[in-house]
Amino acid sequence: MLTQAPKGTQDMLPKDAHRWQTIEDNMRSICALAGYREIRTPIFEHTELFQRGVGETTDVVQKEMYTFNDKGNRSITLKPEGTAGAVRALVEAHLYADIQPVKLYYANCPCFRYEKPQSGRLRQFHQNGVEVFGAKDASVDAEIIDLAMKLLNANGIGDLELNINSIGCPKCRSAYHEKLKGYLSPKLSCLCETCKGRFERNPLRILDCKEDAAKLTDAPAMLDNLCEECAEHFEKLKGYLDALGIRYNIDARIVRGLDYYTKTVFEIITDTPNGKLTVCGGGRYDGLVEELGGPATPGIGFGMGIERMIMVQDLRGVAPEAPALYDAFVVTMGDEARKEGLRLVNELRAADIRADIDHANRSMKAQFKYANKVGAKQVVVIAGDEMEKGVVRLRDMTAGEERELPRAEAVSAIAQAK
Ligand code: ATP
Ligand code: MG
Repeated sequence: MLTQAPKGTQDMLPKDAHRWQTIEDNMRSICALAGYREIRTPIFEHTELFQRGVGETTDVVQKEMYTFNDKGNRSITLKPEGTAGAVRALVEAHLYADIQPVKLYYANCPCFRYEKPQSGRLRQFHQNGVEVFGAKDASVDAEIIDLAMKLLNANGIGDLELNINSIGCPKCRSAYHEKLKGYLSPKLSCLCETCKGRFERNPLRILDCKEDAAKLTDAPAMLDNLCEECAEHFEKLKGYLDALGIRYNIDARIVRGLDYYTKTVFEIITDTPNGKLTVCGGGRYDGLVEELGGPATPGIGFGMGIERMIMVQDLRGVAPEAPALYDAFVVTMGDEARKEGLRLVNELRAADIRADIDHANRSMKAQFKYANKVGAKQVVVIAGDEMEKGVVRLRDMTAGEERELPRAEAVSAIAQAK
């Protein structure tokens, strides 16, 4: 118990730190190029925010939330996704009053869902994501899709398949719901219990049900029943994606799990030896800001699972190698030499050279062995002789060559050979 992490959680171990950091660095640099600024919202929010924001009828809210009462008897929920918190912050801090569009990103955001733990499905996972508020043109839909593809590519994830759909707006959706219910009602008795419950409240979600979807392949599609405005928006999106050279499939069956979506929804899938995996999902939510108490403001965003990306990198054999820990290692013998070594290490670090010295009282031979193990390309030796002569010995570990040089030149020589 004591030495086991809770079910569905995962440590980020030092051997993988470079992978997490690179994914996060790519997020920051690619988003910054497009004018996105970071937002960090609390890990927990009032439960009502997700009930209203993510939607009562969604699996996330019905089955997957980590909800508890705090000591003040408030119902609190650990965030299952990033959008609702970002919208709450937008409204609370009046960010919408700023120049629009408001372009936000979050990096390495912890998310919690009480799911059945299995491969690629955790109870605590992390997302990178973006949200854009105040832009209703489909050019921004294309922009965030482009960003998502670039981010995945930057992390070595190729063979991307982009699937897009439009699920309309409340106006065209309510007419479509009636049509869909007409199609579904004679089939209702054959549907699963969950879908029977969805019939009245959210019939569109039935088409996304893992159990029932296969029986409903001839259902009318939302895409064929869009109002003029939504149809035009979707046409524009396709035109912008074409202009950017981004290939896409139109998949009228994408519904997405969260209730708040309007118009554009999309998923990005990659191929692995274990089959296809979704690495990113997103969409437009033009009614959400108003639903959560702000002024009517269009919004769009995506979320990308970091653990999922790392798993895909492993499956596709593109996991980046860990960099060596040090560029240089200082080997010393004797107390005075050790002091000189500590000073040299400090100088090296100040010159942006990753360096260290033995901290375990090892013999010289063991210090060399250690330097080799940690991948230091250069070793600096300081012992009694060198101290007397005011020199150091510099050993190039790859070439196996050694030379003596004045102590004063050590840092620049190492920097040059780095
Ligand atoms: P799925 O259909 O896989 O359940 P979802 O629709 O619930 O996905 P989103 O809410 O769109 O997923 O979340 C965006 C991304 O977050 C997913 O594409 C995935 O990479 C990641 N993700 C979602 N749930 C989990 C989880 N339980 N563990 C790890 N990553 C997750
Ligand atoms: Mg899910």
